[in-house]
Amino acid sequence: MPRGDGRLSHDLLPGEKGPQDACGVFGVWAPGEEVAKLTYFGLYALQHRGQESAGIAVSNGSQILVFKDMGLVSQVFDETSLGSLTGHIAVGHARYSTTGASVWENAQPTFRATGHGSIALGHNGNLVNTAELAELVADLPQTPGRATKVAATNDTDLITALLAGQTAADGSPLSVEEAAPLVLPKIKGAFSLVYMDEHTLYAARDPQGIRPLVLGRLERGWVVASESAALDICGASFVREIEPGELVAIDEQGLRSSRFAEARPKGCVFEYVYLARPDTDIAGRNVYLSRVEMGRRLAREAPVEADLVIPTPESGTPAAVGYAEASGIPYGSGLVKNSYVGRTFIQPSQTIRQLGIRLKLNPLKEVIRGKRLVVVDDSIVRGNTQRALVRMLREAGAAEVHVRISSPPVKWPCFFGIDFATRAELIANGMSVQEIGQSLGADSLAYISIDAMVEATTIAKPNLCRACFDGEYPMELPDPELLGKQLLEVELAGGADAADALRRP
Ligand code: SF4
Repeated sequence: MPRGDGRLSHDLLPGEKGPQDACGVFGVWAPGEEVAKLTYFGLYALQHRGQESAGIAVSNGSQILVFKDMGLVSQVFDETSLGSLTGHIAVGHARYSTTGASVWENAQPTFRATGHGSIALGHNGNLVNTAELAELVADLPQTPGRATKVAATNDTDLITALLAGQTAADGSPLSVEEAAPLVLPKIKGAFSLVYMDEHTLYAARDPQGIRPLVLGRLERGWVVASESAALDICGASFVREIEPGELVAIDEQGLRSSRFAEARPKGCVFEYVYLARPDTDIAGRNVYLSRVEMGRRLAREAPVEADLVIPTPESGTPAAVGYAEASGIPYGSGLVKNSYVGRTFIQPSQTIRQLGIRLKLNPLKEVIRGKRLVVVDDSIVRGNTQRALVRMLREAGAAEVHVRISSPPVKWPCFFGIDFATRAELIANGMSVQEIGQSLGADSLAYISIDAMVEATTIAKPNLCRACFDGEYPMELPDPELLGKQLLEVELAGGADAADALRRP
């Protein structure tokens, strides 16, 4: 899986999947600006959140045009395609799939005709009541000129269909803005939405605020984005977060804010550990500083006699800096990263695949030889990458390899937008820390505690989702068979019987 942003420790081995991010969203309302280009650069800054497909929708006030395709932002768009997207409102999306396969039909922004025009929508997160929403979409009244059939197989298109398909008591179609208070409270799970009709840009965030979403100001307009780092790249200044349970609408009348649900904050702690860019702030806390502090606390909780602290580049770098600082052990670079190999769609041949980790990382033998190393990484999912890494460091002459992880063992799946693995595939599910260390071939292995990780974020523990570490999910979950990635493909393929089977009793 190609990744942007230079962070790659989880997908070092070709064919091995680590925790995958679940989309970046970006929106801009700015008359007189090149909104498609602003969105392109915004998505560029959010590329690490999704690399499967990218898309931009633009409105010129009378119609919406959507351009999307499979691939990285830089592969999907060029001067010609961006030049064809003219207007004053834009919505952009970079996708990693969590519900719905990685196919063109599921690329975003999704688009639908409404009774008043059309809607284009991008979604970061993952829903947990997809089957219920599919039922609501199936029950929408058929209105001439407005298709309600679910053609796509992702949860996002269900939201779009519901926002597009609401009607008043007399059967007349409601506008997208009128539909929002009826639809948004019915959606369960993680959703940071950026969408638009021909005239207005909207941003909405789930009541738990699981995924980030921020508001920025341009000289002549407004920006909304998954991460504050995407505001910086397009010259917007940070204004505030979109609040959990808030809907914001922006048009020539200005910015309107309303609430569709009470805020019950449960921000994803894994955003601080790995997902978000280090130069992003979430809930007032800088991600880089959180990671350095995790490293410091990890050093205090799990000290070891060693000569050198090295990171798994680059996601382990801030925590390694913190570990070195708190332990007094020198920090060094023991691994050189090939930044570009992950950005190709050329599949490596079997011979090259066997090179495994060396496709992406090469040890600095002169630095490593004879040293007792502390290798700091942000998380372990299956462990295959770390096992290969330990072997490579030993082959390069390391005297000892001690692995330190700046998040606790991942034991539970995420249903809110991060595709770790199935529970059975998680190495920490069923193995003790000592057994995992032996399985990796490390001289020692230690993880940070949940409390130390949380304290490093400076966010109050009850306001963070930590479910993948402690199994305490921030909301009730439906039966496991109603949570699968291919849920809607099953429904579409199986027709009415399968749809009935998916409906909750
Ligand atoms: S389960 Fe883990 S990755 Fe998923 S939202 Fe909660 S903390 Fe984040």
